[in-house]
Amino acid sequence: MAEANTAAAASEYKAVIGLEVHAELATDSKIYCGCSTTFGGEENSHVCPGCLGMPGTLPLLNRKAVEYCVKAGLALNCKINPFSRQDRKHYFYPDLPKGFQVSQLDLPVCQNGWLEIKSGDGVKRVGINRIHIEEDAGKLIHGAADTKIDCNRGATGLIEIVSEPDMSSPEDVYAYMEALREILLYTGVSNCKMEEGSLRCDINISIHKDGEPYGVRTEMKNLNSLSAAKAATAYEIKRQEKVLREGGVLFQATLRWDDDKGLNYVMRVKEHADEYYYFPEPDIMPIVVTPEEIRLIRDTLPEMPKARRERYRERYGLSEYDAGILTVNKALSDLFDQAAGAGAPAKTCANLIMGDVARLLGEKGLPPEQAPFDGSALAELANLVGEGAISSSAASKVTEMLFEPVYAGKSPKAIVEEMDLGQVSDESALREMCRQVVADNPKIAADYRGGKKQAISALVGQVMKASQGKANPGMVNRLLQELLQP
Ligand code: ADP
Ligand code: MG
Ligand code: ZN
Repeated sequence: MAEANTAAAASEYKAVIGLEVHAELATDSKIYCGCSTTFGGEENSHVCPGCLGMPGTLPLLNRKAVEYCVKAGLALNCKINPFSRQDRKHYFYPDLPKGFQVSQLDLPVCQNGWLEIKSGDGVKRVGINRIHIEEDAGKLIHGAADTKIDCNRGATGLIEIVSEPDMSSPEDVYAYMEALREILLYTGVSNCKMEEGSLRCDINISIHKDGEPYGVRTEMKNLNSLSAAKAATAYEIKRQEKVLREGGVLFQATLRWDDDKGLNYVMRVKEHADEYYYFPEPDIMPIVVTPEEIRLIRDTLPEMPKARRERYRERYGLSEYDAGILTVNKALSDLFDQAAGAGAPAKTCANLIMGDVARLLGEKGLPPEQAPFDGSALAELANLVGEGAISSSAASKVTEMLFEPVYAGKSPKAIVEEMDLGQVSDESALREMCRQVVADNPKIAADYRGGKKQAISALVGQVMKASQGKANPGMVNRLLQELLQP
């Protein structure tokens, strides 16, 4: 990878890259019928005459799909067309029983937006040409002896987000996909599970020498992770460079990326422009979006991750790294906001979330949205740590308890009391413990007195152990220093 990038950077060629991203909408039902959009399920169990394309059925547009498309458009700085239309795109493939896909040709819902991405040391704006709604196709399941058609996914609502060819490196592609994914997740427009195919991208790539016209472009499909998209881009740029350097000719082609082998191969060479015989969909009314609707949808947009990261740094003094981790997931970021917003120490809240909370969610297999406590419980816990009432290891224990069903709804304070996790700050009790530990460890004590100052941490550790993690470590440290004074 790194090698490919350096080669691209040092090359006499410039890469021009544009992405077409398909995102499955998070609607419960399909785009023109009431069938479920749940992933998986027994083959052809989420289908009806409508989404199977039986003659005589009529589609009814799921308004939620339009709402999600507008939402994505607003989050991506697009102009929302007050009037748009659906068109039929004709092609034959067994996973599309109707023989045409309902899409949008020249009047998409959204146009002319942009997305800011990190590029090199700076930021760069990638233009969004358009966002339109369309329906997904079914799936072919290839077996050893036969191929089955599963139409469960057929007619699920999609948006296609078409970028301008404003990217120029594998890193740009990665950053674009990452930023786009974040926005679609934060707005709730799509669940963006690339492994389930709910977020897919086609990568268009051409190369040319400075000052010369753009080269022939290829389109690559089957990218099912961000790292695959990056690796595939690096590979294709290199491949095109090699062909041109060796005096060859590039063909306009559709390529398929094989992530296991780390290479692409030609699916089809485009000899003519694809001809889909588009025509306006006669069974669906034009899509009208009023200024009032746009305003209402705009009001539902959450604060975006980029703005949150800036706010976390400025208001709470968090590092760029912490702010980045906290905003990877909106539910965790919301949890942080609730706790820190209630006045709890921000860094402690962040540490609790990034440490024990994230770990326990992972262990229990829970998505962050299903964390079994809210921001006010987290704030209470962070305050207990901040006031020195409990140690950080006790805070870990409390967090673990918060995940246990028997403690559901209990406050951290109540758990601390019930489990007797309060930090021991009683000076005479602690001095006694320290004295005992010094007496039991004469060699370490002698080392310390002899100048090996770091030996004290072993003694602090022993006292912490003796107190079952409840001793106030700062106090233990001070008391030990006093006791060990020569
Ligand atoms: P098509 O109708 O063939 O799909 P589009 O105009 O819709 O063509 O563009 C598809 C994608 O190709 C867009 O994302 C666009 O940014 C990208 N693209 C256009 N021109 C180039 C080019 N010369 N090199 C690389 N990508 C390009
Ligand atoms: Mg296109
Ligand atoms: Zn259906």
